[in-house]
Amino acid sequence: MREILHVQGGQCGNQIGSKFWEVICDEHGVDPTGRYNGDGSSSDIQLERINVYYNEASGGRYVPRAVLMDLEPGTMDSIRSGPYGQIFRPDNFVFGQSGAGNNWAKGHYTEGAELIDAVLDVVRKEAENCDCLQGFQVCHSLGGGTGSGMGTLLISKIREEYPDRMMMTFSVFPSPKVSDTVVEPYNATLSVHQLVENADECMVLDNEALYDICFRTLKLTTPSFGDLNHLISATMSGVTCCLRFPGQLNSDLRKLAVNLIPFPRLHFFMVGFAPLTSRGSQQYISLTVPELTQQMWDAKNMMCAADPRHGRYLTASAMFRGKMSTKEVDEQMINVQNKNSSYFVEWIPNNVKSSVCDIPPKGLKMSSTFVGNSTSIQEMFRRVSEQFTAMFRRKAFLHWYTGEGMDEMEFTEAESNMNDLVAEYQQYQDATAEDEGEYEDDHPDDGEYET
Ligand code: GDP
Repeated sequence: MREILHVQGGQCGNQIGSKFWEVICDEHGVDPTGRYNGDGSSSDIQLERINVYYNEASGGRYVPRAVLMDLEPGTMDSIRSGPYGQIFRPDNFVFGQSGAGNNWAKGHYTEGAELIDAVLDVVRKEAENCDCLQGFQVCHSLGGGTGSGMGTLLISKIREEYPDRMMMTFSVFPSPKVSDTVVEPYNATLSVHQLVENADECMVLDNEALYDICFRTLKLTTPSFGDLNHLISATMSGVTCCLRFPGQLNSDLRKLAVNLIPFPRLHFFMVGFAPLTSRGSQQYISLTVPELTQQMWDAKNMMCAADPRHGRYLTASAMFRGKMSTKEVDEQMINVQNKNSSYFVEWIPNNVKSSVCDIPPKGLKMSSTFVGNSTSIQEMFRRVSEQFTAMFRRKAFLHWYTGEGMDEMEFTEAESNMNDLVAEYQQYQDATAEDEGEYEDDHPDDGEYET
């Protein structure tokens, strides 16, 4: 058994996290009381790897291996009274009363730091129950205070205690189009600084792109968080499909990382989904493999506001779901790469992988999920960086952070770490197969190193 431990924090993290559990419970045939109630015909497939995300309790109940944390009780109260509220282990709800007031410093250094040991106790208990824990997944937003500040505090504590386990995150990036407060770029930049160092793989969910998909493609004039979260839960289900069902490709967090991450800092992935549907409408859409493939690669289907055609793919993976011909999938994927070869770095041969999982998501006959390591993701980091710098130049709003004991220096460091990340993406975007690498020790004749 290779278990994953899920943690969700803050308002957004708890909202998208609980949607994720609703969706995967449905896919694995687990009802809101935790009982298996699935399709007779596919029961083997539904249950074969259920232990990756669920503990089996007495009486054959399946309990999510999930820890829920927040600095205020509201969101967790509504999860508890929602449709799947009873499925979670009651001891795994850890919450405070103070709130983080959209202040990263409160989540990371003051209020969150007070609650973190209580969270770690629950995490440890769950980890001890595992046969062979493969790693963690954390759901959070980066724009607020709790998911962002306390979420990254938890990630760094987990890394300290479990240095050889994988850490995957589903991180929601802020956008002024869907924003609560002006300081979100501060909170996001401080978080990215942490995620670069302490996470292994980050699935980027950018509210700017989610909003655009709802508005432009799904024609929703005033998208709500519920609409955005519908896209997120479909994507999370797609990304984790290869971890939850039997199959070959990317069957655990480490294999996913090995295939997708050529350089350790560059672990922020663009994810895409096809077909895009709004809440309640999916049953009417049915696509062919060529259509799914075409849409999956389309910038309009990416959950990150960056255009892949402004950069190049270092690596990518595609997960198709439903009954379809593997041969057709392979042909279509090769076709995309051949027609667009300049958008893939030529110095990583075979950098696109694909797989097919028999079980489609609920309400669809077929779907596909895309995970790409594209240098164009720098566009999103640049956007946040510009918003950060505009305020930081004048030290606007800094007193909220220094008032919690933070030093201005941490802002400066976070800003340069994110700018370095942008520069690294650019460097590999420009690199060609003919470039001299930095370490040319396999050519003793031309002796000189560039310094
Ligand atoms: P926290 O409770 O302190 O972690 O703060 P929030 O999670 O409310 O963080 C605020 C950021 O998250 C802002 O960028 C919001 O736009 C975003 N956000 C809050 N709730 C949701 C949600 O349910 N879905 C999405 N996609 N974004 C959310």
